[in-house]
Amino acid sequence: MPMILLDRASYEQQETELLAPYAMKSALSKGRKYPEPLHSYRPIFQRDRDRIVHSRAFRRLEYKTQVFVNHEGDHYRTRLTHTLEVAMIGRSIARTLRLNEDLAEAMAFIHDIGHPPFGHSGEQALNALMEHHGGFEHNLQALRLVEKLEKKYPEFDGLNLSWEVREGILKKNIDYNKPGDHQYEPEKAPLLEVQVVDVADEIAYNSHDLDDGLRSGLLAIEDLQQVDIWAEVEQQIRKQYPALDGRLLGYYVVRGIIDMQVRDVLNQTQANLQAYGINSVNDVQKTFVPLVSLSPIVAEKHKQLKRFLYTGLYTHHQVEIMNQKGLRIITELFNLFIDNPRLLEPYAYVRLEDYPLHRVVCDYIAGMTDRYAFNEYAKLCSLTEKNYF
Ligand code: MG
Repeated sequence: MPMILLDRASYEQQETELLAPYAMKSALSKGRKYPEPLHSYRPIFQRDRDRIVHSRAFRRLEYKTQVFVNHEGDHYRTRLTHTLEVAMIGRSIARTLRLNEDLAEAMAFIHDIGHPPFGHSGEQALNALMEHHGGFEHNLQALRLVEKLEKKYPEFDGLNLSWEVREGILKKNIDYNKPGDHQYEPEKAPLLEVQVVDVADEIAYNSHDLDDGLRSGLLAIEDLQQVDIWAEVEQQIRKQYPALDGRLLGYYVVRGIIDMQVRDVLNQTQANLQAYGINSVNDVQKTFVPLVSLSPIVAEKHKQLKRFLYTGLYTHHQVEIMNQKGLRIITELFNLFIDNPRLLEPYAYVRLEDYPLHRVVCDYIAGMTDRYAFNEYAKLCSLTEKNYF
């Protein structure tokens, strides 16, 4: 019988033929902290991706805020649907650049798992509460989750992911002027697959936040027409559909904004790779500039859009009300657990054997979904359970 299954070794061979010379090849991974036998048909980054999807932290993304808190409506992005959009955009970019799609997808799926409940206000609250105890930052928390807190295997704590994924978590939002201080070769720049996910994240949230902003009524199309990137794409669409308006116009423009930016990233990245003479992974790691990037002109428009979203949406009166509630819930729960650790769930309480109290409480709260945090607050802090929203 002819061999029709694609085993790992054959797949890895295909990678060397199909992927670009500067793509990370699965067979060249530095491997895992705890050595494991290679899988018969799944290459290493595909296994990483699957481990992330099967983790508890990944499933919790469904009930964590992106901008709008989960109970505000069924059609708003959550961290989970945001993550799926990042993965989709990231894979498109990775594939077209002939990079390792499995690695890019794994990086996309993991990129927000360290976020606490209530979006950025939740992160700020936890960081302030942990000021004298090591602070809180969501990328470091993602690394903590996959190295220590997830319990899935009898032999070790964490998910035992590949070196490249763990390294990528710390290097995703790298400041190219200050590479960082960590054990994952800070002297080397991030892999292109990691850079792709950073850009895909930016493209995804700026465009879907426009869409959610319109849906909520907090943003109006007339206001968006002041933003260059919106106005340009709308003008293009009007040539084909002069009478389009309302939500359908909104969808079309958002779609066009994503497409325009992805095309721009592909062209600019190609130019960057040529300009810096990038011919290998080694070259990528030696080059401390973002190689996967928007062109300067589109980057400027992208920044204008970000500023618009900041003032028009993220700091909108109604969003601010939810942010304040989230901040208060996190702060009150944190102080309550510090004062009385027996209020922690038993699985978190036993961590006190291994970690200091503040870190245990921080991990516990960071792991909560918005929904869980609301319920905990109602259970522990509210005398009349119905008044917590
Ligand atoms: Mg994100």
